[in-house]
Amino acid sequence: ITLTAPIPSPAKNPGSALRSRLFHRILVAVDDSKQASWALDVAAELSVELSAQLALVHVIRPPVMGSAPEGMYSSPSLEDAMCEEAKSLLQALTKRCPAANPETLLRHGDPADQIIAAADGWNADLIVIGTHGRGTLARLLLGSTAEAVIRRAPCPVLTIALPHAHLYAGHT
Ligand code: AMP
Repeated sequence: ITLTAPIPSPAKNPGSALRSRLFHRILVAVDDSKQASWALDVAAELSVELSAQLALVHVIRPPVMGSAPEGMYSSPSLEDAMCEEAKSLLQALTKRCPAANPETLLRHGDPADQIIAAADGWNADLIVIGTHGRGTLARLLLGSTAEAVIRRAPCPVLTIALPHAHLYAGHT
């Protein structure tokens, strides 16, 4: 994470001085992975701690035509189904963090592009995003979405890796 704000000099109450300069609008990028729900838990706690606003953004990737079984869906009904699924995901994740009272943003397109556009449009001052992390080697790498967001984000990005203990256990 890179902080661009000046570091306040020690004051009578340095904790509260720093807090007031920190983040006010936290955007967390969520998909249906364990990593993203862990990132959401962290973002929600942070937003409550800092009295910041929280928004969840989920991006629906355009369906890859031909990936659905032939004739099973027409394109509009596939898109409708994906939209309904995305809305239920956002609803379920919102229920996970009632104290943060988050807004939800649903976008269509490339996840990294749309997360960045949402951060711009919503005036986020911090993006929270999960990392890839399914194995010893993979844990050393960022997910491709996280990496693309870090490169082009308009604000600081906090990447959250799933703790090792949760990788294969029941964190949902
Ligand atoms: P990935 O690069 O796919 O491993 O994903 C890394 C992180 O990017 C996830 O933990 C989420 O925080 C975020 N992310 C990935 N895909 C999406 C999406 N479709 N919508 C919103 N956030 C996403």
